[in-house]
Amino acid sequence: MDAKKLIEIMQAVAVKIEEEKDYLTELDNVIGDGDHGINMARGFKAVEEKLPSLAGKDIGIILKGIGLQLVSNVGGASGPLYGTAFMKAGAACTGLVSMDAVAFVQAMEAAVQGIEMRGKAHEGEKTMLDALCPALKALRHGVDSGKTAKAALADAVAAAEQGVAYTQTIIATKGRASYLGERSLGHQDPGATSSLYILQTILAHLS
Ligand code: ADP
Ligand code: MG
Ligand code: MG
Repeated sequence: MDAKKLIEIMQAVAVKIEEEKDYLTELDNVIGDGDHGINMARGFKAVEEKLPSLAGKDIGIILKGIGLQLVSNVGGASGPLYGTAFMKAGAACTGLVSMDAVAFVQAMEAAVQGIEMRGKAHEGEKTMLDALCPALKALRHGVDSGKTAKAALADAVAAAEQGVAYTQTIIATKGRASYLGERSLGHQDPGATSSLYILQTILAHLS
């Protein structure tokens, strides 16, 4: 993936998030404060507006620029979390003009660690990490066993889908949904769902 492709993918992510805005908000209505779609759409609209000025820059600078836009334009928990993820991914890709499968794993690893650090959360707490951690594991496993980035990412998306379904079966212990305790059972986590959409969109546009 070169820088031009990355920008194209991020444009597609902004479109996908806008399309799913109402559904993400609906999910957050049930176990949160009903703004996840609104937060994400606002953040990725700001990203979309920033992309033209990032064209021609290296992968690291583009990813950091995206992260900064998310942090500064989204008020909710998800803004700083996704923002940190993109900024950490950018730091892992400093100076790269293109990203191979190994760099992709390293970027995703840095992103997930960034979310864990910022959110003081781990897999199993009914958050975006329940989509992202299994996805990272599948991606790493796929690349380590010699799969192409696209094939490994397809495995990662499948793992994220399962992770999203798994969020329905567990109690939230982080974020607003944790205020509901056992009443969060049976409901799908909005942030895990938006993470799945981002991964699906990257997969759909990766050559
Ligand atoms: P807010 O909860 O501030 O309204 P959003 O609705 O935009 O923010 O985002 C909620 C999502 O953020 C949750 O569905 C969950 O996936 C994620 N989240 C919340 N707190 C944490 C945390 N500490 N670590 C990781 N993810 C979290
Ligand atoms: Mg919310
Ligand atoms: Mg909120």
